[in-house]
Amino acid sequence: MGAHAPALVISDLHLDREPGPLLDAVLAFLKGPVRNASALYILGDLFEYWVGDDAGFPAAEQLAEALQTLEIPVAFIHGNRDFLVGPDYAARAGMQLAPEPLHAALPCGPAVLLHGDSLCTDDTEHMAFRQQVRSGEWQRGFLAHPLEERIRQAESMRATSRDSSRMKADAIMDVNAGAVADTFRDADVPLMIHGHTHRPAIHDLTVDSQPRQRCVLPAWDEHPGYLEVAATGPVLRELDGSPYPAHLLHA
Ligand code: MN
Repeated sequence: MGAHAPALVISDLHLDREPGPLLDAVLAFLKGPVRNASALYILGDLFEYWVGDDAGFPAAEQLAEALQTLEIPVAFIHGNRDFLVGPDYAARAGMQLAPEPLHAALPCGPAVLLHGDSLCTDDTEHMAFRQQVRSGEWQRGFLAHPLEERIRQAESMRATSRDSSRMKADAIMDVNAGAVADTFRDADVPLMIHGHTHRPAIHDLTVDSQPRQRCVLPAWDEHPGYLEVAATGPVLRELDGSPYPAHLLHA
């Protein structure tokens, strides 16, 4: 670890309540590539759902213990599934709850980091849901319910979201080019990193005559991997450190 060590970025692990192979994979990742990193950024949907920091789901608590032992900064941005992760869990995990979009100084230069669902503006149904559940009033109301009731509601929201995703056209579930351009413009940086769409890739594009790169992170329940951002730029890797398979990248 040092000033020139790469920053690592992950998202969309979709960890379940109980320990399993995905938890094992992330624990191995923390003991492996993360040990040589300068920082770890987790860009949301770390968990399949989150019903409050008091739930004490076994997989999440084991993960918190492992994150707590890291000696590097860990930043977390909420996803559309784990938007209720709060300060108590963040403290147990030793991670910073970061604002979205997050402006970060990465080894290759300035970047803007976000979960990615805010870029999918063509999915008007999700945008309405996002606005609702991100309101403090809705969140306080939800968290006021007993744990079992919160779990029941979260399971039902998850089922609804899965059903409606199946019905939506592919293009609606991807980012909107205008939203991407606006985000680059607002952040005024050459590099954007996000997850959510499950379409891993590094896209080269031009916004306002400036060359830009948009990195999309892989989903761990499909084919796990991470983005390594060294001084030379971003590279998508599999968990064993080899380059992410080209045939799984989205054009
Ligand atoms: Mn997501």
